Amino acid sequence: MNTKPTISIIAPVYNEEPVLPELYRRVSAIMDELGEPWELVLVDDGSRDRSAAIIAELHAADPRVRGISFSRNFGFQEAVTAGLDYAQGDAVILTDADLQDPPEVIPEMIAKWREGYDVVYGVRESREGETWFKLVTAKLFYRIIHRITSVNIPLDTGDFRLMDRRVVNALCQMRERNRFLRGMVPWVGYRQTGVYFNRAPRFAGEAKYSSFRRMFKFAMNAVTSFSYLPLQIATYLGFLMAAISGLAIVIVILLRLYAPHELTGQATTLVAVLFLGGVQLISLGIIGEYLGRIYDEVKGRPLYLINKTWGVVSEDEG
Ligand code: UDP
Ligand code: MG
Repeated sequence: MNTKPTISIIAPVYNEEPVLPELYRRVSAIMDELGEPWELVLVDDGSRDRSAAIIAELHAADPRVRGISFSRNFGFQEAVTAGLDYAQGDAVILTDADLQDPPEVIPEMIAKWREGYDVVYGVRESREGETWFKLVTAKLFYRIIHRITSVNIPLDTGDFRLMDRRVVNALCQMRERNRFLRGMVPWVGYRQTGVYFNRAPRFAGEAKYSSFRRMFKFAMNAVTSFSYLPLQIATYLGFLMAAISGLAIVIVILLRLYAPHELTGQATTLVAVLFLGGVQLISLGIIGEYLGRIYDEVKGRPLYLINKTWGVVSEDEG
């Protein structure tokens, strides 16, 4: 094997055929200028286009490009995890393959790392080429997560970040399912800082996360991975309902004694029962969300399965 790289750049790839050559061009231009040994680890997350073939070609032309190809589409978090497992650098940089995270920010991140920071995350100063729906939901999401979780997740920060080897080693030990890396990295701790950048529009191709379903699942994983608040809400609601019914009992007794004709009809009963039924079902659903995740953990399946690799030490599971 050739010399160990100092800097590893990891990009998850899902149907990014039109983007990969440009990604390689821009990353290699920046990194060659810095003059540090580097590698670009491309993790093909079961793409259905020619992405895997292009990774093979890039690797053949420049062995500093290394590739991993999954047996199927496992998802962004799993792809990044595989990249972290196989990256060899003393510092590892996560970036999207679609060039929304400009490689030109990398030298700034490396400079901060040299100053002694263990994590340098990219803070989005602006986002171009996104729908207002995505902008609003993203803003809200970051604020809510920030409030309800105990780990200090930085605002407006995506997965674009540099991590020192010891942070990467810690992450590699965290084999939890339904992963939420943006929370796991702050959880690890050490010295963390941010650099600002402008999030560019996608270089080519289509975004895969825009569907509401995907974003909802992502948000649910974030909340359940780092907070018990939804479970506690059931308790709070229980206390609230108990207090209200205590008050209602007194009112009903008084009405019975002093105004016996005020309390007629079944509408009140019906509304009360339906309301309680709703609250109970929601609480049950919340418990179900956590239970399903516990079930996923207990099964203990590998996080991903590898079909093929280019230039990395081969193993067949994660
Ligand atoms: N991606 C992946 N697996 C998936 C979906 C996306 O590896 O199942 C990769 C994708 O190729 C890209 C990154 O994750 O490099 C971000 O995806 P996308 O640009 O679609 O998301 P957005 O920028 O809208 O958050
Ligand atoms: Mg994107």
